[in-house]
Amino acid sequence: MMNSDIFKKIKGQLGKLPKNWIVMLETLTKNSLDLGLESVKILTDQGLDALIVSASRPCNKLLELYEEKKIDTKKVFIICTVCKSQGIDVKDTKSIRHVRSYDSLMEILISLEKIKSELKKEEGFLFIDSISSLLIHNDSRKLSQFIHRILVTIRINNINGILISLNEEINKEVRAEIAQLCDKVISV
Ligand SMILES: [Zn+2]
Repeated sequence: MMNSDIFKKIKGQLGKLPKNWIVMLETLTKNSLDLGLESVKILTDQGLDALIVSASRPCNKLLELYEEKKIDTKKVFIICTVCKSQGIDVKDTKSIRHVRSYDSLMEILISLEKIKSELKKEEGFLFIDSISSLLIHNDSRKLSQFIHRILVTIRINNINGILISLNEEINKEVRAEIAQLCDKVISV
């Protein structure tokens, strides 16, 4: 379990962000699941819709965890990169879309374009869990370009952004490049 000081810190930080914020959340691998769940809980409780790019867990598993955490899943939209990569047979729904694999970065962008129309303007956030997972399957230069494009897309559309990055697993250059595109880096 995560220590309650970390929860308090993240709650304080996410509670006072400027308009149209993009935040990079850095943490240790062992804390990443709890931190991700807590962040989505805090922000959906504030009334925001969550657009999740799932690179660590299949969408079904993620939804189960959200339900356990009492997150309002009607507010949750998922772009799942995991199921098809693992050969799990799945159908898309209005709120869950699948891309072929972890490395289909263009497809993630296209799905984002499609799914963002489901979000109420200025009342949503994009959540990428995690950059480090995507980095395992993608060339770092391509991934940086992808993150850059995705952040431009969400800024244009007045969507907020939150990116999880894992301290032990991220390449320092990629981290620096992505951090400079964010309004704030929170390390917990
Ligand atoms: Zn899935």
